[in-house]
Amino acid sequence: MNYGINTSCLHLEGGDETETHYGAISYPIYQTATYVHPGVGRSTGYDYSRLQNPTRERLEKVITGLEGGTDAFALSSGMAAITLLMEIFRPGDHIIVEADLYGGSIRLFDNVSAKNDIEITYLNCSSEDISSKIRENTRAIYIETPTNPMMNVSDIEAVSKVAKEHGLILIVDNTFLSPYFQNPLKLGADVVIHSGTKFIGGHNDTLAGFIVTNRADIQDKLRFLIKTTGAGLAPFDSWLILRGVKTLGIRMEKAQENALKIARWLQNENIVTKVYYPGLPDHPGHELIKRQARGFGSMITFDVDSKEHALKILEKVDIIKFAESLGGVETLITYPTTQTHADVPEEVRLRNGITDRTLRLSVGIEDAEDLLRELTHVFASLKEEDHA
Ligand code: PLP
Repeated sequence: MNYGINTSCLHLEGGDETETHYGAISYPIYQTATYVHPGVGRSTGYDYSRLQNPTRERLEKVITGLEGGTDAFALSSGMAAITLLMEIFRPGDHIIVEADLYGGSIRLFDNVSAKNDIEITYLNCSSEDISSKIRENTRAIYIETPTNPMMNVSDIEAVSKVAKEHGLILIVDNTFLSPYFQNPLKLGADVVIHSGTKFIGGHNDTLAGFIVTNRADIQDKLRFLIKTTGAGLAPFDSWLILRGVKTLGIRMEKAQENALKIARWLQNENIVTKVYYPGLPDHPGHELIKRQARGFGSMITFDVDSKEHALKILEKVDIIKFAESLGGVETLITYPTTQTHADVPEEVRLRNGITDRTLRLSVGIEDAEDLLRELTHVFASLKEEDHA
């Protein structure tokens, strides 16, 4: 039997093991660094928490199930996940990478991966031809869809076909939609990345990251690497994320409902010059995302008519918090130019469409009326100041 996605957020298929934990419905936190051996040469299967920890393993099983993989790895942050994944490559390898990525990923590729002699070619994978950039030493394609922050949508199935034709690993950062709305492995990807800090955890209180795969060769390499490099998620943080996952579905649905209302509202505002939200019918990725995902998510990027207006919006919001993250229950507004994408060279930012007039909203689960009332108030006060 296959559970539905909301049930899978709560229960493991094949048994929930409550009988081995005194019936505890909330999975216990195994806050232990090491484990007692029953005798010389004997082990309970648990030797040291860098290698194995039951709470982390429980979370990994839940995420494996949600993404339809064969294994998942829970790391101390999204960046720890991407850093660990890059260890499967060798000096001299070449990777084709989506140009419009989370700024921290670009910082990693441009500095750490480059230092390790991994060559990166950036490409707008939603519109440019990938095949022509493939070389002898190309090993992987790395995409985000939708991208952070410009919300470009790539065709995962089409990219996976190119990857398979050339024997490349397709890696998809699925942070923006979460496994609730999109499952890249089912569309042909080999590896899925998540910042678990975002929608999966969902409460803006815990950092976490995931790598999920359905390939035994990659899985084996990653098991070796996680135990060797040691960035596995701590037991308490694993438990917090397990608790967050339980409500993934209702959070994603409510946030998306709010986002659609806000995106439509923004479209009708004079000072807003562009709204990037794939749930809007005029978004270039609208039909594609409807085909490959079960929802549009709750991330909205928009441009206003001046830098001054952008900065004033950040100053004036109240229940919408000016903070640098996304995917939590609270609505956050971010200024990519000086926050998430500050370390991306200006010419790259501008090429990707990120200007000093660009704002990013991560819509939360508040009452939509309150969010819209606040935005109405903020925008009205800008107009008043303009005419003063
Ligand atoms: N991937 C995406 C799309 C992100 O937006 C982020 C962070 O904002 C990351 C990865 C990195 O995750 P973390 O902040 O958990 O290290």
